[in-house]
Amino acid sequence: MAKKVAPAIGIDLGTTYSCVAVWEHDHVEIIANDQGNRTTPSYVSFAQEERLVGEDAFHNSAIDPLNTIYGVKCLIGRRFSDPSVKEDINLWPFRVLVGANDRPKIVVNYKGEEKQFSAEEISSMVLMKMKQIAETYLSCTVKDTVITVPAYFNDSQRRATKDAGVIAGLNVKRIMDEPTAAALAYGFHKIKDYSKPQNVFVFDLGGGTFDVSLVNIRGGRFEVKATAGDTHLGGEDIDNRVLNYFVDEFLRKYKKDIRNNSRALRRLRSACERAKRSLSTNTVTSVQVDCLYPDIDFCCKLSRDRFDDLNKDLFTKCIELTNQCLKDAEVNKSDVDIVVLVGGSSRIPRVQQLLKEYFGDKKLHRNINQDEAVAYGAAILAAQLSRQGNDMVNKVVLSDVTPLSLGVDIIGDVTSIVIPRNTSVPTKKVKAFTTTTDDQTTVAFKVYEGERLQASKNLLLGMFEISGLSPAPRGVPSIDVYFKIDADGILNVSGKVRSSGEMSKLTITNEESWLRKEEIDKMIKEAEKYRADDEKHKRRFDARRELDNYAYEMRKNVRNLDLLSLVSKSEVKKIEEGICEAISWLDLNEAPAVKASKSKLCELKKICEPIVTEMNSQK
Ligand code: ADP
Ligand code: MG
Repeated sequence: MAKKVAPAIGIDLGTTYSCVAVWEHDHVEIIANDQGNRTTPSYVSFAQEERLVGEDAFHNSAIDPLNTIYGVKCLIGRRFSDPSVKEDINLWPFRVLVGANDRPKIVVNYKGEEKQFSAEEISSMVLMKMKQIAETYLSCTVKDTVITVPAYFNDSQRRATKDAGVIAGLNVKRIMDEPTAAALAYGFHKIKDYSKPQNVFVFDLGGGTFDVSLVNIRGGRFEVKATAGDTHLGGEDIDNRVLNYFVDEFLRKYKKDIRNNSRALRRLRSACERAKRSLSTNTVTSVQVDCLYPDIDFCCKLSRDRFDDLNKDLFTKCIELTNQCLKDAEVNKSDVDIVVLVGGSSRIPRVQQLLKEYFGDKKLHRNINQDEAVAYGAAILAAQLSRQGNDMVNKVVLSDVTPLSLGVDIIGDVTSIVIPRNTSVPTKKVKAFTTTTDDQTTVAFKVYEGERLQASKNLLLGMFEISGLSPAPRGVPSIDVYFKIDADGILNVSGKVRSSGEMSKLTITNEESWLRKEEIDKMIKEAEKYRADDEKHKRRFDARRELDNYAYEMRKNVRNLDLLSLVSKSEVKKIEEGICEAISWLDLNEAPAVKASKSKLCELKKICEPIVTEMNSQK
């Protein structure tokens, strides 16, 4: 029998939600997780007995916030001392410490022991979950993948994301820019004639971040012309605005401050998030939390107008950054052909209205699902790279640009740019340098990324040294430094002394910035250990879920059926009590043993037997 060729998958590894897609039967399929949802929370929780990833981890965050990790995309490939990392750490309930080489380490308590993880490891757990979701759907092992990253991700963030993929047991064929993926998802449906150039504006307002990009499509070639955004502007900021409003309301109405009650805050926050989602389709909603404060049930109305008002400046900022992106791309807004909406928060009506006012009514494109566009595009590229696509897939050519300038430091801590920002990749550039003192035999360079003229203010990517130069007066030797960026946007540096014609000995000391091979190998081994845990967890949750589904199904039946015509009053009472008891048991037992759930289910089935028999006989 011919062995099934494993399809390549596309993964949108998001800050708050991730999505996986695959190309099959001449179309892109977005793969739903075991709960039937097409996106999965990028959460990992270290519960008492097992590690949870995705939906279960998300639900566990309210119970165990200290050991539930999310948002690690803000940490990946960054240094602990990075001011933006500090800002995030202050907002998270879990602990992050400084590890070796200024790398952040996430600290959790797992099975009674303190454990530390790198951002790459936590991301690899989310990637592994996405891989599993795809494998369950495809009934085969998956290896090849395309993973997306924000266009502004620098070299070390891209490398770290690729490392996370390797730790998850994936073969990362390409790191792709999110806006390119979204533009591709759009173009794939809409563009029949690639000969006509198009400017696609990608507006991505997600859970924690806001990214806008101008993507130019010409002859099947996709090119990101410019990007702008804010790494701390997204759905969570919007939730916070609503939360603060209701905390004040509560104080005004009941003279009680819940600001220091973290459990109450968490419950109110989820209610605010639900209200926000509801306001994307309704003009008024209510925020309701039972027993928010001992003996106080909170219920308050929230109108769309009030919601818009609370977030006014955040929405205005989105338009300002849109403006800046177009300016950087040197494209007039009238020359934008289409605006593609991406990210859950781009569903907010006021945001769409502001965009309509800015670009004109007809340009907004909503035909692709906001949450799925990025994974959709990644799946198309994955198919192309693994030669599994059709003619339409093969027609597309992608080209990304460097988000930041790359260069080396020269005398006086000045940056000498070798590859300017917004250069299309892959690319190779060479620049000549020389010595600064007489008879110098060694030249050392620091490789930087960033736009500051003062080299040390930019991000240090690594260092390299060229030795063995023949003694000569200063300024005479000519050293060619080559910068090569591959299709993933990852940089390789090499150098050659021109006078001798020989390739010089070159050392790139880059281990400071990212993981070394041995570390990755160690993490792969660790990851395998966790897989056994996951299996155990899955069995527990499957059993618990079965009970959960049954109890709620029966509750629905009890509420909808005219039971008294079927069974006696006392029996109805017994059934209602039995269901109620099972639901409270579920509330108290987040991860019960398989046996416990099964016996509870047996018990409940016995109690509900009279109505089930009656219902069956009526069918
Ligand atoms: P990521 O930043 O991880 O890519 P998403 O693009 O999936 O995340 O966006 C998640 C955010 O979108 C969350 O803050 C969520 O509350 C918000 N969101 C999802 N659906 C809606 C909706 N219908 N209306 C408003 N916000 C929404
Ligand atoms: Mg996203």
